[in-house]
Amino acid sequence: MAKVVCVLYDDPVDGHPTSYARDDLPKIDQYPDGQTLPSPKAIDFQPGEMLGSVSGELGLRKYVESLGHEFVVTSSKDGPDSELEKHLADAEIVISQPFWPAYLTAERIAKAPRLKLALTAGIGSDHVDLQAAMDNDVTVAEVTYCNSISVAEHVCMMILGLVRNYIPSYNWVMKGGWNIADCVARSYDVEGMHVGTVAAGRIGLAVLRRLKPFDMHLHYNDRHRLPEAVEKELGLTWHATREELYGACDVVTLNCPLHPETEHMINDETLKLFKRGAYLVNTARGKLCDRDSIARALESGQLAGYAGDVWFPQPAPQDHPWRTMPNHGMTPHISGTSLSAQARYAAGTREILECHFEGRPIRDEYLIVQGGNLAGVGAHSYSKGNATGGSEEAAKFEKVK
Ligand code: NDP
Repeated sequence: MAKVVCVLYDDPVDGHPTSYARDDLPKIDQYPDGQTLPSPKAIDFQPGEMLGSVSGELGLRKYVESLGHEFVVTSSKDGPDSELEKHLADAEIVISQPFWPAYLTAERIAKAPRLKLALTAGIGSDHVDLQAAMDNDVTVAEVTYCNSISVAEHVCMMILGLVRNYIPSYNWVMKGGWNIADCVARSYDVEGMHVGTVAAGRIGLAVLRRLKPFDMHLHYNDRHRLPEAVEKELGLTWHATREELYGACDVVTLNCPLHPETEHMINDETLKLFKRGAYLVNTARGKLCDRDSIARALESGQLAGYAGDVWFPQPAPQDHPWRTMPNHGMTPHISGTSLSAQARYAAGTREILECHFEGRPIRDEYLIVQGGNLAGVGAHSYSKGNATGGSEEAAKFEKVK
């Protein structure tokens, strides 16, 4: 019998939803590059339901228990007294989500001698010390593509929101005002602006495709160049270094994974390379940016706006400066966990569990670490090492009811 520990975010403050705004989800046949959607043998949930919070249990309880395994679901993940910590000693599988990450540091992996699989119900496994996973033969897998388009939509929303000054204008309405001049004093059109993505993977490319009809000039930097036909189709300008891209753009969006090569790549020094008044949107990982440098750049006006939904650590403590810095459009980490995305990553998690329990190979496109090395998609997109340093700070978070 295996113990499966599943760490999920808390239910809504009013309890698990009993009804929903819409009756169904649109049917999607395949991902844009032809990759097939998650294909478990069965699912025990209704797509469109809340699956990502504790009561939703990713729709997995019936399946896991039917095999005779123990299934523990908790949101208690930080600090030595957390539920997660209590179950590490005999956990075979830890399932976690980037939105509410169960940080699997080297210390925690050392406390989990039976751990075989760290499964990310989403994309981005930087909450796992990948070096420690490699050293301890723990497989790390994630549900590649499950929410890439969800995030790309969020990025476009945030770019438009910042440039057009949406949130402050909305706030004037809520305050009972009709303060047009206050609203438009920071409002511009995106048309004609230069927008660049650091990384043109699944999300980055989808962002470029979605911004093309806004008549923006499109730029990108990536370790591997896109096919020439794609560059031509979208009229892309490629930059050999991300530093070169920063100076060429009015809007920069970060869409690369967090690994030692990208940690804190936006800092006081690199922000000087941006145009004054640039906008920065980061839905990839909070730690790609130096926290205080971002706040300073907004205060000085070097950045005209910053938005995103990723922080470090998560949840962010009440005194995290990104909650109160000027001209920001932050959300908690939600872009990849719309109800639409939840249905896909819950199905993908089930598919990976089925492979694990039936001794079948996990799809290459889902693998990050296997057999003591970076593997599958992880070997392409990550570098070796660890980016979990400082994650214990997440224990400082106090819930707001
Ligand atoms: P992909 O693997 O499709 O894309 C990642 C891209 O980043 C690849 O093209 C990779 O390049 C590129 N890359 C890696 N390192 C660098 C570097 N040093 N400089 C420039 N480019 C680099 O993943 P997705 O697009 O689906 O997701 C990207 C990231 O977004 C995830 O890793 C995750 O951190 C974050 N994410 C956030 C979500 C949210 O809810 N906010 C949800 C989903 C993802 P190459 O392969 O050419 O080496």
